[in-house]
Amino acid sequence: MMHIVKHILLSIYIGVLLLGHSAFADRILMVTEATFPPYEYHEGEEIKGIDPEIMNEVAKRMNKKLVVEDMSFDSVITAVVSGKADVAASGITITEERKKQVDFSLPYVEAAQVIVIKKDSAIQSADDLKGKRIGVQHGTTGDTYVTKNIQQPERFPNAALVISALTAGKIDVAVIDQDPAKMFLAKEKELQILPKPLVMEQYAIAVKKGNQELLNRINSTILDLQSTGKLKEICAKHTNVILNQAKTTPNAPTGFWAELKDDFNTNFIRESRWKYLVEGFLITIEISFFSVLVGIFMGFIVAVIRSTYDKTGKLRFLNALCKIYLTVIRGTPVVVQLLIIYFVIFGSVDISKIIVAIVAFGFNSGAYVAEIIRSGIMSIDKGQFEAGRSLGLNHTQTMLYIILPQAFKNVLPALGNEFIVLLKETSVSGYIALADLTKGGDIIRSQTYTAFLPLMAVAIIYLAIVMLFSHLLNKLEQRLKNNE
Ligand code: GLN
Repeated sequence: MMHIVKHILLSIYIGVLLLGHSAFADRILMVTEATFPPYEYHEGEEIKGIDPEIMNEVAKRMNKKLVVEDMSFDSVITAVVSGKADVAASGITITEERKKQVDFSLPYVEAAQVIVIKKDSAIQSADDLKGKRIGVQHGTTGDTYVTKNIQQPERFPNAALVISALTAGKIDVAVIDQDPAKMFLAKEKELQILPKPLVMEQYAIAVKKGNQELLNRINSTILDLQSTGKLKEICAKHTNVILNQAKTTPNAPTGFWAELKDDFNTNFIRESRWKYLVEGFLITIEISFFSVLVGIFMGFIVAVIRSTYDKTGKLRFLNALCKIYLTVIRGTPVVVQLLIIYFVIFGSVDISKIIVAIVAFGFNSGAYVAEIIRSGIMSIDKGQFEAGRSLGLNHTQTMLYIILPQAFKNVLPALGNEFIVLLKETSVSGYIALADLTKGGDIIRSQTYTAFLPLMAVAIIYLAIVMLFSHLLNKLEQRLKNNE
């Protein structure tokens, strides 16, 4: 507990220190979508690959430390545009649209979008794609190409999941980048890549528009790595790492229990993947706990203002503000609020994501808590107010000593319910690249290409937390009842 409090205080402190600055001076923050071998992939706790290695070279030359962060591909460019990150290096194809948003380095790889099918598929070329179920990775050039030239595709969060969908027969064909496709296919023996690429492309690294200094450094590093042959070496090294991994993956056993045991090992034991769940669990608890506190605080204040206005006609202005707050918060989804707070409100501020999440979920919950508490206050008999006044208490004192304690008891079940909802709502934290419990499961899923066990594990952990919480709440209710 102390550790979490310390962490939060430190984050606030750092957040305030950096108010207005886009990043630490002595580090380069790179964002990427790390399910894209050989360009970026998880290895244990680390994100490795061609892109991190190139950026590491850049950082070294600038005497800075490279920090790599994993997020969804459709957010990496936004992160650079909004100043959240210094560079996006994620096998990003140069396109005219993207050039309007960011500045690109020199290209460092010739790439392509390819068509991946099952070996027994009837599809023979790009002309056969129309009307088929085409899977792509959301926000990529493959997505844009298929959408513009063929039809609406099925969009998955990362390339690995597109391949799993193809293997599972959920789609007929995958359109993804060539090199990752080759890496995935080393493991998926029943798939093949059509020899003719759909479209040729070039990868480059993206920086915020006008960040000429960093761009120059990246360009000179790329030229340097190219002329010394080091770039080729880096590419070959990571390609071999991935291909060797595929080779050494033992053949899966057969039989229900043997398969389950093998899946369990792959998903939780190998490379200590269970750590994603434990760390995710701690983050989920941390966010939920502090959001509940913020929510109760906001809720109480808003409820008291609103019911004071209702009863006495005072606080007209504050009441109007509260109404706007309730309308906006309850009228928009929490994911959208989270993204607005992260990318817009704290857009150019380097603030801990945990704090962003606590603010977002806390303010969101506050609106619901406010109405719950207000209904509690309204439910208290008018006579209680009069009794308070006849005891010589003023409005605030009556509220504090007579009304709120009774109201609280009445609304406890509803409040408990709100907190259960809140806990589960934090599962969208992954949208801002927070590695909460749900995201932890997603990371495992994207590394092992299996859905069942990681999802089950995540579900069971949430269920256990909620059951424990409900149990404690019941006890509290009993206690309050016995005190009556
Ligand atoms: N090269 C593709 C693009 O830029 C996909 C990149 C990726 O998925 N990391 O859209």
